[in-house]
Amino acid sequence: MLNPELRALIFDAPPLEHALRQAKPAFARILEGALAGRELTAEEGLQLLDAEGRELVALLRAADMARALDVGDTVTYVVNRNINFTNVCFVGCQFCAFARHRKDADARTDSLTTILAKVAEAVERGATEICMQGGINPEMPPLFYRDVLIEIKRAFPDIHIHAFSPMEIFYGARRAGLPYREYLTMLRDAGLGTIPGTAAEILDDEVRDVLSHKKVDVRSWIEIVTTAHEVGLRSSSTMMYGHIEKPHHIVQHIEILRSIQRRTGGFTEFVPLRFIHTYTALYQKGLVNPPPKGVFDLKVYAFSRLMLRPLIVNVQTSWVKLGPELAQSSLAAGCNDFGGTLMEEQISKSAGADAGEYLPVETIRSLILGIGRTPEERTTVYGRVPRNNAIASSGRPSWGSGSRTLPPGPAFVH
Ligand code: SF4
Repeated sequence: MLNPELRALIFDAPPLEHALRQAKPAFARILEGALAGRELTAEEGLQLLDAEGRELVALLRAADMARALDVGDTVTYVVNRNINFTNVCFVGCQFCAFARHRKDADARTDSLTTILAKVAEAVERGATEICMQGGINPEMPPLFYRDVLIEIKRAFPDIHIHAFSPMEIFYGARRAGLPYREYLTMLRDAGLGTIPGTAAEILDDEVRDVLSHKKVDVRSWIEIVTTAHEVGLRSSSTMMYGHIEKPHHIVQHIEILRSIQRRTGGFTEFVPLRFIHTYTALYQKGLVNPPPKGVFDLKVYAFSRLMLRPLIVNVQTSWVKLGPELAQSSLAAGCNDFGGTLMEEQISKSAGADAGEYLPVETIRSLILGIGRTPEERTTVYGRVPRNNAIASSGRPSWGSGSRTLPPGPAFVH
């Protein structure tokens, strides 16, 4: 159940024109500028993140209108499966409760046979996409990522492989002794379809030094993502918020994404990801005091919609981080994509998220319909899936009808 404050913000708020009239004139002018298609400045972005009361109501209303103008009333989702193929990792991110030392009792790395079995199960259940990310495991052979791609595509030529974060590309290229361009081209030729724009957290090196001083730095993250786009590998873009960052870091992060998108046009969507704190070192050391779930999340989503238009028009909510009900509400705060079914998600779960690892197509569609919008299955790059959604969702009884947890497999976080 949404709390009364959220219900009032989302469901009982006045229409846009009324909300704009009630907001401070200077603030309303920023929103009107964004709705007219003007790219907002960093200073204006800071004012959006500062919104409270009537200004917050107007922000959410304007983001919802911008969403309608950008993409209409359709809410998309992808039928996919995550495969977190190893939880062995030496990087030591302070926000990650998932990584294990290779000698830990619960350290795991999937064999190629296991990975292929998971892909087979996903294909059997109608998945169009496999999303693969893992820990940075120094024991993996230097060309492991390439070889996994080749084997998956040999067995399942039609599946789209969305895999390997910029951190994995950073490490994989080093292990292979190749420049990013050659390494990414090799992975593309082996069957890689797109890459997740994860390992971004907040694109500020001072923040990153606290979160994870061994992680790929901002300059390298930008170089890897830009190069991926240039060789034809599009990517998502993400941001982890709600930890030690300040509003100006969020604005700076968005400015970096906008500047990459102006150059390459390679981002398919933006996915704001709430920091899940419970079991992380960051929280247990007392270094963070995350904001309560709800209002702040909606504000970040609405801000993202307005700041990114017209460059990135797909804003994806995260049911894993927010839970299905708050994710549904975020569809009224600027989001137009519900993400994927996942089937296996241990990154957020390890950190304390309790939304489960799998959301059936039927549940996703009914959440979208429940807020008065039209569900539509999409491909990874936001194309139409050439099949009848009714068949995809209800003609496969093995999907089940309620959220469920699959047997545990190797897990990680990025
Ligand atoms: S977030 Fe990724 S790179 Fe960082 S410790 Fe966890 S698994 Fe390793």
